[in-house]
Amino acid sequence: MSEPVKTQALVLRTIPYSDTSKIATLLTPDHGKVSVIAKGARSRSSKYGNLLQPLAELEVILHFKPGRDLQNLSQASLSGHRRLLLTDYDRMMAGFRILDWLLKIQIPHPDAGAYFSLAVRVLSVLGSAETLHPALFAKFYLRLSQLNGTEPNTFECGSCSKPFGQFDPQQPVGFSTATGQIYCEDCRRNMKTDAAVETPVIELIGHWLYPGQISPPASEPDRLQYESLEHLMEKHLRYHLDL
Ligand SMILES: [Zn+2]
Repeated sequence: MSEPVKTQALVLRTIPYSDTSKIATLLTPDHGKVSVIAKGARSRSSKYGNLLQPLAELEVILHFKPGRDLQNLSQASLSGHRRLLLTDYDRMMAGFRILDWLLKIQIPHPDAGAYFSLAVRVLSVLGSAETLHPALFAKFYLRLSQLNGTEPNTFECGSCSKPFGQFDPQQPVGFSTATGQIYCEDCRRNMKTDAAVETPVIELIGHWLYPGQISPPASEPDRLQYESLEHLMEKHLRYHLDL
């Protein structure tokens, strides 16, 4: 027997199925990623209209049977409206990048609620903020690595344990994606680091991870520093998720 389950859902992907139906991959807070079949969703008189599109945030009723590969969708209504995600090309593409990550990574069921909230939060910013922060993706990557338990350690040198606060701020900080550790100016050359990062970038990562304990950088990072932060966080995440 399958039971009707009402849940919030973010549509990650849809594919056509048979002449009239669709299969959709949903991210839900309680059941993680779920594949559903929406019968009749492609017919003109479908009760789903054009709701079943990637990026849509819905409230759905599923006929849920644990262990089954494909669940049945029986109702859907729109729960979040993100106008800019549908009308601004760059934002839509950025939204698809978020969905792409969610499709690629493993989302364990007990943590699905945290992944769901993160996704909805980022998409809400993308879909409504007047200007987008240059560190939006860097922060998304960092939060994903936190959920996954692989966030970097920015407290001290991974080799000699010198606290980050005592590093020479004029010297680049070594960072290793493999260990997720930072390395001071003395240890950087002897360790296998794969990036030399400027001080404000590490300060910002530390502040995002421990906002109560670590202050933000005294001066805001510039565009290149934000780019290097995004690149670094993406590389770190890919390494630890084996992508
Ligand atoms: Zn050191």
